[in-house]
Amino acid sequence: MEKVYKNVYHVGDSGCSVFLIDSESSDGLILIDCGMSLNLIKKIAKLGLNPLDIQHCIITHFHIDHIAACYDLKEYNKKLRFYAHELDSIPIEEAGYDRETAASWYGVKYKPIKLYKKLQGEKEILKFGNYQFECIHTPGHTPGSISILLEIEGVKILFGQDLHGPIIPGVSDFGEYQKSLKRLLDLKADILCEGHFGIYKPADRVSEYIKQYIESY
Ligand SMILES: [Zn+2]
Ligand SMILES: [Zn+2]
Repeated sequence: MEKVYKNVYHVGDSGCSVFLIDSESSDGLILIDCGMSLNLIKKIAKLGLNPLDIQHCIITHFHIDHIAACYDLKEYNKKLRFYAHELDSIPIEEAGYDRETAASWYGVKYKPIKLYKKLQGEKEILKFGNYQFECIHTPGHTPGSISILLEIEGVKILFGQDLHGPIIPGVSDFGEYQKSLKRLLDLKADILCEGHFGIYKPADRVSEYIKQYIESY
């Protein structure tokens, strides 16, 4: 458990890195991806935060390492609401997509969940408390991958969960992926929370990190 910035925490890693934002409002706590273990999420109690106060979970894409714990979390905390891009919604909401989600590769049985809202188009803003979560469609790794930008006190925090890829035959689109990376670079984020490779700051290091995956650099 590590504090990334004011009210932003890296909960830990199980499958992927899981991040948590305290909205300090009636919207409670917001989770970025679930990872693979409810026990990991429950560890926020050590920070004095109540896992039952998690009201919203923004899912960045349909891969199992980001969504395996969703079902258990919903069972534990019934009022929780899930959000994901509509283009990734079917493997999240329906059974039988173990190849797409990579559940079969991980040897995990995925239990589908219902999304409260399907994000559409290039960008949608979710407002929780005073915070605006800019959900930016960044297709490529999967068709409905999103990255989330959150600005706190002028500091831009980017949750770019699988911006490192990989490009998976039959699921990913390399051309779209390259376009998405350029879009993320243009955001000039100050802090990058990556899904598997840690936290990068300041802005120069974020740019450097993104550029290494852009072919033309
Ligand atoms: Zn992924
Ligand atoms: Zn991942």
